[in-house]
Amino acid sequence: KELTDINALADEYLRLSYHGLRAKDKTFNARFETNFDTSVSKINVVPQDIGRVILNLINNAFYAVSEKKKHLKPVAGEGSPVHFEPTVQVITKNLGDKIEVVIKDNGNGIPQKIIDKIFQPFFTTKPTGQGTGLGLSLSYDIITKGHGGELKVETTENEGTAFIITLPVTTAPV
Ligand code: ADP
Ligand code: MG
Repeated sequence: KELTDINALADEYLRLSYHGLRAKDKTFNARFETNFDTSVSKINVVPQDIGRVILNLINNAFYAVSEKKKHLKPVAGEGSPVHFEPTVQVITKNLGDKIEVVIKDNGNGIPQKIIDKIFQPFFTTKPTGQGTGLGLSLSYDIITKGHGGELKVETTENEGTAFIITLPVTTAPV
């Protein structure tokens, strides 16, 4: 573990994800927004592990908004599709003894009937070759077992999803 600037890390992995997806698919088109709390202090983490978690959550979010965009249907009677701007937000917050990193999308949300399964290894709703179903289970372990934090999800069908990472502020090696 090493003292790590979480805002810089989140920013780096957001760009990595965005440019990676654009390189793979020229039609990929989504907005991202950041809202970093500058009072978030450096904390003691394994930067590659936290980066991996952030990258997975951001990739999932971009996937969710891209899918929503692909399947948008024109409003009955009107010729043009409903207005939708695919957007992923990355937000950090200083909560005193904890910091929070929120990855939020305006995709289709996660159906209640699968919400209990998403953190299980190999659970995926993606077509073969597009998802291993390991991202969230690995992320959960990294955050909870690896860093004594929490990983939670809030979702509303048709409106979007937020994954909330909470990490304890630890400034000495654990
Ligand atoms: P994978 O991305 O390989 O499918 P994950 O463990 O990262 O595996 O995610 C598991 C499943 O959780 C996804 O297949 C999807 O059904 C659901 N999921 C995860 N993130 C989101 C999201 N932001 N919006 C909607 N569904 C999501
Ligand atoms: Mg994933």
